[in-house]
Amino acid sequence: MAKVNWSGAMISESRQRLIELLADGEFHSGEALAESLSVSRAAIHNNIEALAELGLEIFRVRGKGYRLERPLSLLDGAQVNEGREAPLHLFWQLASTNDFINQRRERCRNGEACLAEMQTSGRGRRGRVWQSPLASHLYLSYFYRLEQGMTAAAGLSLAVGVMLVDALTEQGFRDVSLKWPNDLYLEGRKLGGVLVELSGQFGEPAELTIGMGINVAMPAAIATQIDQPWSDLQQQADGCIDRSQLANGLLHHLDRGMALFAEQGLTPFVTRWQQLDCFAGKPVKLLMGEREINGIAAGIDADGNLLLDEAGQQRRFAAGEISLRGR
Ligand code: ATP
Repeated sequence: MAKVNWSGAMISESRQRLIELLADGEFHSGEALAESLSVSRAAIHNNIEALAELGLEIFRVRGKGYRLERPLSLLDGAQVNEGREAPLHLFWQLASTNDFINQRRERCRNGEACLAEMQTSGRGRRGRVWQSPLASHLYLSYFYRLEQGMTAAAGLSLAVGVMLVDALTEQGFRDVSLKWPNDLYLEGRKLGGVLVELSGQFGEPAELTIGMGINVAMPAAIATQIDQPWSDLQQQADGCIDRSQLANGLLHHLDRGMALFAEQGLTPFVTRWQQLDCFAGKPVKLLMGEREINGIAAGIDADGNLLLDEAGQQRRFAAGEISLRGR
């Protein structure tokens, strides 16, 4: 039996209940909400304001009550983990799903995963902020112990990118591509990111925390806080995207993909990565602190290094401190 833990963290139980009541996207009068939660109308008003501060877009219409701008698909633990054996930990709110897995990785089983409805300190590479508003996107971390050790993890974020695109494609999303080394793109804009964190001693198995954020439906208030072009899956969907189904698909692809990666490394993913490369053959620049190198992106090598054609010569670059941008 899969284990599912729901934990309320910092969003109070009455706020959780309020979110669940509003999730249908219909109008709910203040009076009806107050009655359902056994609190005063003033308390409802305060809680609604608090939820708006967390990024939920809530309208108030006199005589009708409160309504969300669009229905929400809240995560359902049983559905997210359907068909899987590894434990799933589900939270309303965490600082970061990677931190949660990092803190317990000695006890984790392969495939153990964590999702949160929101992150208060979601992060990208080198500590950059990953905007993680409530009940809008997916924030998922996945544990894997790689018996061969740290060096065998080279290129892992590229392989994970392929697993995620394949999962999204299977669920009907089109034209999702990859940007070296760790981003998912949709129509030239950032849809998601992968953040792999490793621990382990030389000669021992490596413990991998594989984190990812994928934008499902971006709230307008949050969009203004992102300083580069972004995208979300909602742009390809008419109705409300079932986030639990989406997460379930991602987890199954990670289960299969990580077993393959543990056996064969990056090799089985390289060709597919090249097919999904959003910058293949295009002019790009590499940013390294103050330095900038211009060239034509030429895919990756067998170890996942970036290949760049520069004035008739091909150079290779390892990820680390480098950021790739289009020109
Ligand atoms: P790199 O190419 O080095 O990975 P990056 O700027 O894309 O560069 P990441 O660490 O991958 O860096 O991601 C963090 C950046 O992504 C933030 O600085 C911000 O520009 C952007 N960002 C933050 N939250 C989101 C989000 N929810 N959706 C899309 N982009 C976001």
